[in-house]
Amino acid sequence: MSHPIQCKCGCLKGSVADVKTANRVVCYCRDCQAFAHFLGNSGDILDRHGGTDIVQTLPKNISFTQGTEVLACMRLTETGLLRWYTTCCKTPIGNTLPSHKMSFVGLVHNCLESSEITLNDSFGSARIYVHTKYAKGESKPKSAGLMATVIRNLARVLRARIDGTYKQTPFFWVDSGVPIVSPKILSHQEYQDVMDVI
Ligand SMILES: [Zn+2]
Ligand SMILES: [Zn+2]
Repeated sequence: MSHPIQCKCGCLKGSVADVKTANRVVCYCRDCQAFAHFLGNSGDILDRHGGTDIVQTLPKNISFTQGTEVLACMRLTETGLLRWYTTCCKTPIGNTLPSHKMSFVGLVHNCLESSEITLNDSFGSARIYVHTKYAKGESKPKSAGLMATVIRNLARVLRARIDGTYKQTPFFWVDSGVPIVSPKILSHQEYQDVMDVI
């Protein structure tokens, strides 16, 4: 079964396949919060504790059918994750590791919102909560499932590396391993500005 992907304005469209093997994770880390603020619509992206609802899967499961020209990519720092979003309406798409050989993508919930099917129907409700010490407000969520998630993702990265399916990714040019759009790396000042509002 697959689940639709689209940006808020509908320029970018696609789908994610094999939904049952995805991990649904809520991440409270400062970097995910900073990315939401960078896009300027943290109210739509973050939950009331500052968490980002993420669906982790393999890039080979993602296909875009239109609008890849609106894809953009940023990094909070030189060594940070590649954080993908659309330029048309600033919808967060997902996070990938800097090398395509490490086959991983964490899709941000906003690009998975759909009138046809809910995230819960496709991916089940979130049971994994990570980096909860950075959660905001009272009665913070409890950390759960971090180790299991790390092990599961590592196993998948290794398997994709061995069977060569890491080459199936819409985010990188296969031959060179270069991202399809060059990432914007925040300047020191831009980084400080975005971290200050968390
Ligand atoms: Zn859009
Ligand atoms: Zn995070």
